Amino acid sequence: MTFHPNRHSMSSHWLAFTSNRRFHQQPRLVDRAEGIFYYTPQGQPLYDSLSGLWCTPLGHGNQAITEAISRQLGYLDYAPAFNVSHPLAFELADKLAELAPGDLNHTLFCNSGSEAADTALKLARAYWRAKGRAEKTKFIGRSKGYHGVNFGGISVGGIVGNRKLYGQTLDTYHLPHTWLAQNRFAKGVPTEGDYLADSLLSILEVQDASNIAAVIVEPMAGSGGVIVPSAGYLKRLRELCDQHDILLIFDEVITGFGRLGSLFGADFFDVQPDILTCAKALTNGVVPMGAVISNDDIYATLMDQPGDDYLIEFPHGYTYSAHPLACASALASLAQLTKPALMSKVRELSGVFEQAIHQLKGLPLVEDIRNIGLAGAIQIEADPAHPLKRASDISALCWDKGVYVRFGGNNLSFAPPFICTAEDIQHIFARVAEAIQEYA
Ligand code: PLP
Repeated sequence: MTFHPNRHSMSSHWLAFTSNRRFHQQPRLVDRAEGIFYYTPQGQPLYDSLSGLWCTPLGHGNQAITEAISRQLGYLDYAPAFNVSHPLAFELADKLAELAPGDLNHTLFCNSGSEAADTALKLARAYWRAKGRAEKTKFIGRSKGYHGVNFGGISVGGIVGNRKLYGQTLDTYHLPHTWLAQNRFAKGVPTEGDYLADSLLSILEVQDASNIAAVIVEPMAGSGGVIVPSAGYLKRLRELCDQHDILLIFDEVITGFGRLGSLFGADFFDVQPDILTCAKALTNGVVPMGAVISNDDIYATLMDQPGDDYLIEFPHGYTYSAHPLACASALASLAQLTKPALMSKVRELSGVFEQAIHQLKGLPLVEDIRNIGLAGAIQIEADPAHPLKRASDISALCWDKGVYVRFGGNNLSFAPPFICTAEDIQHIFARVAEAIQEYA
């Protein structure tokens, strides 16, 4: 059905993470998608420059996923998630154990990146309690980090706009972000910044490691504006967590499943976390699903707790954990995302992407450009009177030019589908350059 602003009440749908008042003046709708394009109800094609919300690397309308879900729908549409399961859930968990690095072998399923973050935090606390160290409850996140919108996630998250309205959070501390002025316009992984990991020591000096359950970071801060850490930063963080008996959680909701040209950010940076969270590309965004993959030690610790075996080891889960349709979608997505030829293509396109995005250096208002793999951001100089307005206005101009561009804070973010071509990438940045020039 076609959307008519005069037939639909604009206020009945309260849009997520959106300035609803602005949307009402300028509704932006898509009603169809295919490959790397969205289409407006009027039929205008729009390049999907962020793979939806970082979640559709295989593009839209992927036939194998569509068929897998349709088949599953006719077979088993829902199975209770508690005390009962179904074969696809085990198949998918086995697959994730095979794909995830090192001894990350045990998956708890959920339905989103936010749920995955909160699940991981609860798991960390439960682990320490089972180890007899119940005082280890505090968490350390990072400034500009994003771990979704639930209370755990906003507590460890470091984007002030997502926290300031909501009062008391969990007991958390934050590492400084890894954006450094001297790395501006660095291509790929910057050289400066390993020392930023040592800020963990300053937090421990005051809080003491005996009270800290876990450090949680994204391998690269995606929603914060594709802020890439220096090559040795995560290794140093791992080292410090080991020295101080603190779990390390990687939130790979964006970096998971190929975005950096490696299957996981952990592989790209060659650092092993204790818990890894993922979502988004896991199902190619077609059915909501999140996953929390924990290492052997955490699993064994919770399974080996004393007490009767009818007791629940980890009282946590969702009605839709390991939903059959999500499992079908994930298995079909992973069968494609793990093909070596696709990863090679992502790495090849990453070079084209890097060149294309950095060509915008020197345009008015562009104060930084960052990239890693097939992800990048253009940081727009803030207007002191209206600090968050420019990126939003430029994104609106891009839409009129046939490119859907995500903005967040002062950043325009890009993460094109893996199925795009070099020409698509060049076309996208040519339109974005025009929009910035026209706006300035
Ligand atoms: N963690 C990271 C790193 C994310 O980028 C996101 C979403 O962008 C989330 C968590 C939250 O995921 P969701 O929106 O599926 O709850």
